[in-house]
Amino acid sequence: MPEKSQKDAERSEALEMNPWHQAMEQLDRAGSKMNMEPFVLERLRHCKRILTVSVPVKMDDGSISVFEGYRIQHNLDRGPAKGGIRYHPQVSLDEVKALSFWMTMKCAVVNLPYGGAKGGVICDPKKMSIGEIERLTRRYTSEISILLGPDRDIPAPDVNTNEQIMAWIMDTYSMTVGYSCPGVVTGKPIEAGGSLGRKEATGRGVFYVTRELSNIRGFDLRKAPVAIQGFGNVGANAAKIFAEHGCKVVGISDVGGGLYDAKGLDIDDIMAYRQTHESIAKYPRAEHVPVEHFVEVPCEVLIPAAMENTITHENASKVKAKFVIEGANGPTTNRADRVLEERGVLVIPDILANAGGVTVSYFEWVQDIQAYFWSEKDINARLQDIIVRAFREVYEVAQRERVDMRLAAFMVGLNRLAKAVRIRGTFP
Ligand code: GLU
Repeated sequence: MPEKSQKDAERSEALEMNPWHQAMEQLDRAGSKMNMEPFVLERLRHCKRILTVSVPVKMDDGSISVFEGYRIQHNLDRGPAKGGIRYHPQVSLDEVKALSFWMTMKCAVVNLPYGGAKGGVICDPKKMSIGEIERLTRRYTSEISILLGPDRDIPAPDVNTNEQIMAWIMDTYSMTVGYSCPGVVTGKPIEAGGSLGRKEATGRGVFYVTRELSNIRGFDLRKAPVAIQGFGNVGANAAKIFAEHGCKVVGISDVGGGLYDAKGLDIDDIMAYRQTHESIAKYPRAEHVPVEHFVEVPCEVLIPAAMENTITHENASKVKAKFVIEGANGPTTNRADRVLEERGVLVIPDILANAGGVTVSYFEWVQDIQAYFWSEKDINARLQDIIVRAFREVYEVAQRERVDMRLAAFMVGLNRLAKAVRIRGTFP
């Protein structure tokens, strides 16, 4: 390849893998389809607040390591900032910016009274002890506490963060203000003011979306083989819930490797295996699939529930599924979207498909503020209501405007958000 075109190819590859660039392309696409006023788009091209913090942590060997962390509030026009916190070696400013933008859009699509935010710390929690993770969490919380508060900014779990970490965030914040403040963070353990059903909520929302899709499209979900990439909170709970509803989960993977069985995997058995093993990669009762080829396994429904950019223009042509349901945030690049669309693969976008998590976070926050807790049955029924309503609204726009589901979801979200931006006006 000549040097110039080689450079161009590298550049477009880098942009394809940059989540903020991807997110802004998605915004522009919706903006131009809707003839949106430039000032609304311009507002959304900037994050409202970006806080970078250094997080010094006393390690177990007595040394001090300094980690870099972020908390970004993308937009607050529809309510307080909401969004998770992730711990991962690949966290970057552009990634957290994109994730905070997607939270703004997600909350608007399902119509929760929130703006979008996200936080992240560049670290590898797999190489840290529990004590080190606790000290990192408490110091990071203290550093970003200038932004936090139950009516200001409410974090939640994301990649590599869990209920225990949320409890430390709640405790650290409460120690600072001098009283117990459960409403400052969601995804907490029940004992610390958490909500029933929150842990399973993202996976459950993914299931509700897929079931509604099968109703509208008229296919039998119990006969459609499902493959799930990722075995974290989203992937593992999705696998469990699909299996509980009689669906055939034929593939599942984690960072170490993938598993496949055309007859359907025994999810309970894999869950039990995972309790005593670091990864499911060596689970003995299934075929093994290399992680880098997992999205190519034979299935009808593919649920990427791991990280960004797992479906790219390079492997999109090898995806066998008819439906891609995005459990993760940003798993499909924009170039991959185009390839999938040309091939007739329907993608249900992240900002709709994985909105179950933030929806039950909203329920948790409402319960905390009212100090009145609901039954799990109630929570799941309300979750289903919200997710199905949002799905139908987006599907209807996609049909009417003859656009893909990602663009339709952006149009629904952007329309709602723009109304708030216009009506609130520009200060001063
Ligand atoms: N981290 C989740 C997401 O990306 C949940 C956010 C929340 O509950 O605030 O949607």
